[in-house]
Order: sequence, then structure tokens, then C-alpha cells
Amino acid sequence: MNAFVCREKRPLETRVALDPAAVSRFVKLGATVTLESAAGTAAGHPDDAYRNAGALIASDPQKALAEADFVLRVRPPEASEISRQKPGSAAVGFMDPFSNRELIDAMVARGVTGVCMELIPRTTLAQKMDALSSQANLAGYAAVLMAANRLDAILPMMMTPAGTISPAKVFIIGVGVAGLQAIATARRLGARVEAFDTRPVVEEQVRSLGAKFVKIDIGETGQTEQGYARELTARQVAMQQAGMAKICAGADIVITTAKVFGRQAPRLLTAEMLTGMRPGAVVVDLAAESGGNVEGTRLDEEVVLDHGVRLLGWGAPECRVPRHASQMYASNLSSFIEHFWNAETGTPDLDRDDEILKGCLLVHRGQIQERFKP
Ligand code: NAD
Repeated sequence: MNAFVCREKRPLETRVALDPAAVSRFVKLGATVTLESAAGTAAGHPDDAYRNAGALIASDPQKALAEADFVLRVRPPEASEISRQKPGSAAVGFMDPFSNRELIDAMVARGVTGVCMELIPRTTLAQKMDALSSQANLAGYAAVLMAANRLDAILPMMMTPAGTISPAKVFIIGVGVAGLQAIATARRLGARVEAFDTRPVVEEQVRSLGAKFVKIDIGETGQTEQGYARELTARQVAMQQAGMAKICAGADIVITTAKVFGRQAPRLLTAEMLTGMRPGAVVVDLAAESGGNVEGTRLDEEVVLDHGVRLLGWGAPECRVPRHASQMYASNLSSFIEHFWNAETGTPDLDRDDEILKGCLLVHRGQIQERFKP
């Protein structure tokens, strides 16, 4: 197998699909790994580190892309890049499958296989490949540090001869993987933390991290079989907003992580709620890439409202810790390839009738999977 690792093209993206340790894993299997020059520089890995791990650095990246059996990325490719891959080859990475029709069409037209890292099933067997979780975990951590950095106050309680400082109040909305790590990080920094999620099952997890679970009665919610939140009705969202307004008003930091799988993120913080917050308070919107939980956030920008509330719409805060984010993502990718590796053919066998594959295949050799048919 010839694997090619592209340099990420999206502005502010600092991660790389394979780190040198993952290259060693690939090489040990018998794969040839080629990288676009400087693919890992922003993540702390110069080309030489990859050469030392057994990779080649492409002198002609277009040719390397065209010859590769597997093209590995973090972010979705452009449709034009898919049409330069050879038919029968595979593209692996986050694919934004529910809003990227052009990409799916390009895979079909070119006879390429698309493996979508967002769709790796959340099962015990596939845990090692679960890139959504590995990245969300770091996003939750980085979001708290970003907010602490922009806040005009400290997070822990301090009792000093110069007076006593109360702990900062942090409110986390959405307690999935990112939310849980945000709670844990804010607690470690000494903040007083409250959290809310529409899935009542997380109450116990919130409490076990030393935070308070906010109870808001919004009627029937529950979760899907895969553990994802169900979309709320407009009336339920309004009830939730009314229940959260007071907590937001008293908070120093609000971090929103609320997502509904495959859909736009719910709009939870209105301009009116933001107006009720104190000057200097910081809001981090971790759903900024999928529509945003907060009115007025702009993707990858900091917006300061007239009364001094800061909105941070950083789409992927894990890009602030690219070395570890890449390490985890690369480990997820390596586990995926190892799981399907066929030692006889020296390539991953993606034709198998496998539960993990059924979950994460978008297109198979140009054949679109049933659930993505238009
Ligand atoms: P996610 O990114 O899809 O959503 C983040 C959180 O937002 C979720 O907790 C969701 O309930 C919440 N949310 C949605 N709408 C909301 C609203 N209106 N108000 C407040 N919160 C709202 O979630 P995720 O981190 O990807 O986790 C999804 C599920 O997958 C969870 O049940 C998690 O425990 C589960 N999971 C399982 C495994 C595994 O078993 N291997 C691994 C990771 C995650």
C-alpha cells in the first residue's frame, strides 16, 4: 500500500494526519508512506522526523497524490483533489458528509472510496479509531484555556492578605466528550462549574467531576440509540433558553458544545441573553463550525460585543494543541488501517462485511452508500 499524507490546506489548521510514530506503525505493517513537504511542521514534526521514521517526502506532491492507494487527511479534500486520485484508491479523513454533496459526487464520478472519520461507530471495538472523541476531548480542554486566557479574572479561589477572591463561575452547555473534558479542566483550574445537557443520563457524570448539573424542565428529550441528542422543538429550545438565562448572567465563562448529529447546531444563546451577561465575560462557541450555538459568533474570530462580552468562535480549538491532537488522530487512523490490514495483499481490505466499515463508508469504489443517496 502506498499511503500519501497531504499538507492541510484550511487556514488555521495545524494538525497532520500522521505523526512520525504513526508512520513507524504503517512502515512496520509493510506500507510505503509519502508526505507532502512540511505537512507536519505546524504540529512540531519537521520533514526530517518523518524521514527518520521511514517516510518519503514527495518531490512532486501532485504525482504522489495520483499514485497513492490511500490518501490521508484531517480535513475534507476538495472535489478537484478527488478527481486527481486514481480510480479504486481511497480517501480517509473527516468528510463533513451531511453538507458536502460535491465531494460525494466527485468520489462517485472517479470510482474512489471515501472513509469518513466522523462516522466511525461509537462502539467498544471501534473506540481506538474514534477520532470524533479524541479531538473533542482536546477541544474541551483547549476551550477552557482559551477562555481563561481572555478572561479579565483568575479562575481559582484565593485567600490572601490583600483579600479573598471568589472562584470564577463557568457554565458548560452540552456535556458530551468535549463538555466533560471542559468541566474537568475548569475544575482543575479551581473554577466553580455548572453544566446542562438535554440528555438526563449525563447528570451523574457531571456530578462525579465535582460540578453541578443544572435542571431545566423542557419535557421529553432522551437520546438516539447511538447516544446522540435528539433535536428539540422550537418550544423546548425557548424553555431551555429561559432556564439558562439567569445562569449565563452570573457566569464568567460560558462554553457551548451542543450538537445534534448530522444537523445544524441548535441556537441556544440569544443576543438578549448575551446582553444580560457581565462585561468581560467570555463565551466560547465550540459548535461554530456547524452553525453555532451562540448568536453573533463568527467562525475563527473573536467578537467583542458593545458591552464588553467576548465571543470566541474558534471552530476547532484542538488546533491549538496540534502535537497531541495529531498524535491522537494519527493513532485513530493507524488503528483503523491495522484493523483492516490484510498481510497477504499488503493492503487494508475494505471489501469486508464489517460493522465498523458499514458505519463509516461514504462511497465504496464509486458506489455510494445507501443512506447518502440523494
Ligand atoms: P455531540 O458532539 O454530538 O454533542 C455534544 C453534546 O451536546 C451532547 O452531549 C448532546 O447531548 C448535547 N446537546 C445537544 N443539544 C443540546 C441542547 N439543546 N442543550 C444542551 N446540550 C445539548 O456529542 P459527543 O461528544 O459526540 O457524544 C455523543 C454521544 O456519544 C454521547 O452519548 C457519548 O457518551 C457517546 N460516546 C460514546 C462512545 C463510546 O461508547 N465508545 C465514545 C464517545 C462518545
